[in-house]
Formats: sequence, structure tokens, C-alpha cells
Amino acid sequence: MKRFEQKTVLVTGAASGIGAACVRRLWEEGASVALADQDQTGLEKLISEFSETNDNPRIFGGRLDVSDSAQVQSFVAAAKGKFGHLHGLINCAGIKGVGNVLDCEPENWKKVMSVNLDGTFLMCQAFARAVQHDRTSRAIVNISSGAGIMGVPNRLPYVASKFAVSGVTRTMGAELGPYGIRVNAIAPGMVRTPFTAYMFEDPEKARRIRAAHAIGREGQPEEIAAVATFLLTDDASFMTGAVVSVDGGQTACIPSV
Ligand code: NAD
Repeated sequence: MKRFEQKTVLVTGAASGIGAACVRRLWEEGASVALADQDQTGLEKLISEFSETNDNPRIFGGRLDVSDSAQVQSFVAAAKGKFGHLHGLINCAGIKGVGNVLDCEPENWKKVMSVNLDGTFLMCQAFARAVQHDRTSRAIVNISSGAGIMGVPNRLPYVASKFAVSGVTRTMGAELGPYGIRVNAIAPGMVRTPFTAYMFEDPEKARRIRAAHAIGREGQPEEIAAVATFLLTDDASFMTGAVVSVDGGQTACIPSV
């Protein structure tokens, strides 16, 4: 029995990296998947892996800017219209946020918060409103970061947005528990995706990244997708409001000197 047969899952940031790995895993396990990303070309490329036509009954793809409330509402409504029921949501859409307290411009700060935090909030709200009367188990997974657990110099807006994602996850877990909707977050360590590819171009930097993880290497997107899909299933039925580190031990300890 495939774990996601007869289940529908929404994935944002679906065109690349961790989101695309989640989509592939869900597809293999029988889910119907609603894919959202602002990158239309990337979306179409991924969808073509599953289907040569645009009318696959298990796939719905939509171009979406998660920071735009109207777009989010119409995407969730369209997915519900196509599939009837929605069972899960994985929020992967995210952008980098470089800058420190001395040089970070307000526009940069607002842009990062609008995608990483507002986008997560808007998607969770639209999903929760769509399923709140279903009275059966539903689940949300937000992708936070190790930068939502520990500070990172010169990544101030990113850190702020990811600490906030961890905080809203815990709070929404409490708020939505009575509706049967579980909300958890994953805090990944460094994962090899287009988001981080530039960091591995310098061999010395790549060595330092690997050394910062207890298991001595960066992660792969499939290792995050494995935990995200687990959190959607009833095997995680007693988990809500949790922020789960999936980071090869990156945030497990302070290095001894
Ligand atoms: P990625 O760049 O490969 O994928 C991110 C996707 O989000 C892209 O397809 C992009 O088009 C989409 N996106 C960006 N802004 C959007 C918007 N406004 N609306 C809709 N889609 C939008 O990155 P990734 O590494 O797969 O990261 C996925 C998530 O994981 C992000 O939230 C990131 O912060 C988080 N994360 C990544 C790492 C890592 O090491 N890769 C570590 C910790 C956390």
C-alpha cells in the first residue's frame, strides 16, 4: 500500500531543490500533488517528468507568488476544486536573505520576510480555512532552517524570517490541534540545491561546510523530503508544533576547543 494513495498534497517552491524532491517522493507514493512556484518554466519541466500532457488527474501546477494573498487564495481554491479534498501542505518556497544590522536595507528585509514568513502564513491560513471543517487528520510542514534555531552573522533578514517560521509553526500547531490539523516544521542543515550551489564552488568553503555537520557532509534534498512526507502521515500523529532538525548534527553542539 502506498502511503499517499487517495491523498492530495500542496507543495510550494515545488520547481526546485527540496520542494521538487518532495513532489517526486509524493508522486512515487501515490499522492495527487498541487505544485506551486513562481518559476513557471521550472514547474513545467518538473511536471513533464510525470506526464506528457497537461491533464494528468494526479497533477495540478500553478504559477504562484506565495507572498500575494489573492494568488494564494485562488491557488488553494483551484487545487481543492480539482481534487475535492486537500490532505497536506508542504511550504518550501523561500529566498536568501543577506545583510547585517548595520547594512541591511528595509526593502531587502521586507522582501525576505514577505516570501519566507508572509508566504508561509498565507499558505497555512488558506489551507487551514479550506480543511477546517473536514474533521479528519490533516497536516502542514513548514521548511524553517538551522538559521531558525541559531543566529547566522550577515544573514539577518533570513534568520529573522526562519525564527518566525519556527514560532508560527509552534503557535499554529496549538491553534489548529482542535481541528485535527497538525503543523510541524523542519530545520534543515546545509542541503545541496540551487539555493546553496554557489557555496560549494570554493573547495575550502565546501570543506568548512562539511566539517560543520557532525556526520561530515551536506544533506541531499531527498533526505528532507523523507522527513517531510513522514510528518504528513499518521505515523507522526502525535507530533504537532514541533521544529525538527534534519541537519546532520549541524546544530547539535558547540564545537569544543
Ligand atoms: P531552491 O532555490 O532550490 O528552491 C526554492 C524555490 O522557491 C524555487 O523554485 C523558487 O522559484 C521558489 N520561490 C521563491 N520565491 C517564491 C515565491 N515568492 N513564490 C513562490 N515560489 C517561490 O531552494 P531550496 O534549497 O530547495 O530551499 C527550499 C526551502 O528550504 C527554503 O525555504 C529555504 O529557505 C529552506 N532551506 C534550505 C536549505 C538548504 O541548504 N538548501 C537549508 C535550510 C532551509
